[in-house]
Amino acid sequence: MATDLSYIRNFGICAHIDAGKTTVSERILYYTGKNYKIGEVHEGTATMDFLQEEQERGITIQSAATTCPWTHEGKEYKCNLIDTPGHVDFTIEVERSLRVLDGAVAVFDGKEGVEAQSETVWRQADRYKVPRMCFINKMDKIGASFDFSFATIKTRLGANGIPIQYPIGLGHDHKGVIDLMTMRAYFFEGEKGENVIERDVPEDMLENVQNWRKVMVEKIAELDEALMDKFLADENSLGVAEMKKALRGGTVSRRCYPVLCGAALRNIGIQRLLDAVVEYLPNPNEKPDVEGTDPRDKDIKLTRPHDEAAPFSALVFKVVNDKHGDLTYMRVYSGRLTPGSRLVNPGNGKREIASRIFEMHAQNRIPLEVVTAGNIVAVVGIKDSFTGDTLCDPDEQIMLERMFFPEPVIAMSIEPKTQDDKRKLSEALGVIRREDPSFRSNFNEETGETIIAGMGELHLEIIKNKLVRDMKINVNVGKPKVSYREAITKKVEDVRGLFRKQSGGRGQFGDAVISLEPFTAAQAAEEELDFDDNVAFENAIVGGVVPKEFVPSIEYGLRQAAKSGVFAGFPLINIKATLTYGSFHAVDSSQIAFEQAGRIALQEAVGRAGPTLLEPIMKVVVTVPNDYVGNVTGDISSRRGMIIDTEDRDPVKLITCEVPLSEMFGYTTSLRGMSQGRASNTMEFLEYRPMPAALVKALKEGEAGTKK
Ligand code: GDP
Repeated sequence: MATDLSYIRNFGICAHIDAGKTTVSERILYYTGKNYKIGEVHEGTATMDFLQEEQERGITIQSAATTCPWTHEGKEYKCNLIDTPGHVDFTIEVERSLRVLDGAVAVFDGKEGVEAQSETVWRQADRYKVPRMCFINKMDKIGASFDFSFATIKTRLGANGIPIQYPIGLGHDHKGVIDLMTMRAYFFEGEKGENVIERDVPEDMLENVQNWRKVMVEKIAELDEALMDKFLADENSLGVAEMKKALRGGTVSRRCYPVLCGAALRNIGIQRLLDAVVEYLPNPNEKPDVEGTDPRDKDIKLTRPHDEAAPFSALVFKVVNDKHGDLTYMRVYSGRLTPGSRLVNPGNGKREIASRIFEMHAQNRIPLEVVTAGNIVAVVGIKDSFTGDTLCDPDEQIMLERMFFPEPVIAMSIEPKTQDDKRKLSEALGVIRREDPSFRSNFNEETGETIIAGMGELHLEIIKNKLVRDMKINVNVGKPKVSYREAITKKVEDVRGLFRKQSGGRGQFGDAVISLEPFTAAQAAEEELDFDDNVAFENAIVGGVVPKEFVPSIEYGLRQAAKSGVFAGFPLINIKATLTYGSFHAVDSSQIAFEQAGRIALQEAVGRAGPTLLEPIMKVVVTVPNDYVGNVTGDISSRRGMIIDTEDRDPVKLITCEVPLSEMFGYTTSLRGMSQGRASNTMEFLEYRPMPAALVKALKEGEAGTKK
């Protein structure tokens, strides 16, 4: 069955922690009829938060997609709610969900308005050009203010918000919402607010609400020249239908953001929010055709229309390990897919079969006979395709743009207690890696340690709990440690790596001479060199001093050595090695001997090239009440932080700074301590920067100390 795309909405909820995203999502699932019990977040039964970990913390980490049918004006729409996380530790989760949704609802706290963390989330959505509406939640909170919160959309986000609702009562008196378009009042009655009752606007609110309607009408008129002319001739001449049409156009093209309000916890406003999702957020057809490249030639750009007659293409945005096998969530961009269809992953060339296709609802899954362009489904049977991969028609291949996965900046050692745990651990780590591309793990042969790495302290803690509590594996874990990188500071030339073993029988002989220099991704692009793992390699040998077949062995040995580190056991990055000379032995030379020569040459060269360490620097934004600014800035300086910007947001200040990650362990707790719990912060990875020499020395000595 083909679906008319104008009845599909793929949308997400973007909000920082605590704004009420989980509560809003819960209510959406409830009213769309697939969820029978409203789960309060504090009871830990919210349907979308299916990991125990998330329920305990009340935050949403995994991104699940849930189909929510919604009937509006007699027509049934299929809303696919894509859950997006609010914690910046999980930017990768945000990224993957923003890629596949067409629109979003930004939820704000009705007392605080737009907060620093809301801004981070908003800017992320900007980067992906996601059309949005705003839902000002918690109108029932003491001190809640629609007027203030609405104003912060302009002052803090610089966004053109257009009010289309106004709250009836605030705080304890919050009872419903007024639709400014139709000037009707809506109340939500019954045990769970399931009965939407329409009434006249309360008398005592009329004047104020009429003023807000004027603001709305004028702002809508600004979106459309013809409407503006009509408005200028007669301010009361604009009809609801034409205003909705202009508002929809403005929202889809991101020239404006409709603003709604309510209180999810009190069951106020959610059904009207769903109506607005259908009315204003784009359907898949209103997004540009998806773009990609020809897998055989990256310079050839291809597009696919949102059309089921086009060749099949889909993007994998989530893999969830499930007792029935992996569930691979994908957004279908073009074409159609039936159970048993053959697909290819153009990224790794692997053939895949979509054996079963499911539409995922909050508590059950519905098997589908076909899925067409514009839909989001979970597929069983996919083996070698993970988050960020394209799946497409083997005869008409396209590679959709890959997702950007930042490097993990924090690592922790993990040690199984028994042989049985060891086996379980290695399996479990494989599962987690498949589900979460921002997670890494590797086994260090030398030390016998397994190291896991991720995006932040919270990320690793959650993984640890998943292993220990959910999977019941007994492990000892080390303290989280910063993932440093090695680098060099100067160029060295003609450094020899000689590997020779000649003792009776057949010997080993490899000899490679290299130059080594600091190098950047930009330089690599300019010289058209591969920069895998931030290492470039060039063969500048003239003549046959080293036979061609041994050159790849030298490169391999050198890259392996860079990966495991030379100077302090961290990956060596931002280098270019040039093979300038060498020699070989007619009998004793082998690939293994040249791998060793490459490794030795790199190690020798690094020793002479002024090795140093790079450390991850985080961008930290602290929101702090004026009274505590001194404490916070003093503390930032003592953490080797640099204050980049201070913005006045009376009664708070927003302090943006750059601080080494190594100084930021436990920061959130200590920030609370120095501000009586009133300051908060966001933190994201910025870049690797050279570490002060004294600290490099201390770190190395510390390492030596522990190794004894
Ligand atoms: P999330 O972190 O964005 O998913 O937010 P939650 O949905 O977990 O909500 C955070 C807290 O705010 C919880 O304690 C909720 O009970 C509370 N909350 C959510 N919506 C409302 C609301 O409309 N009014 C009030 N007063 N509290 C709310």
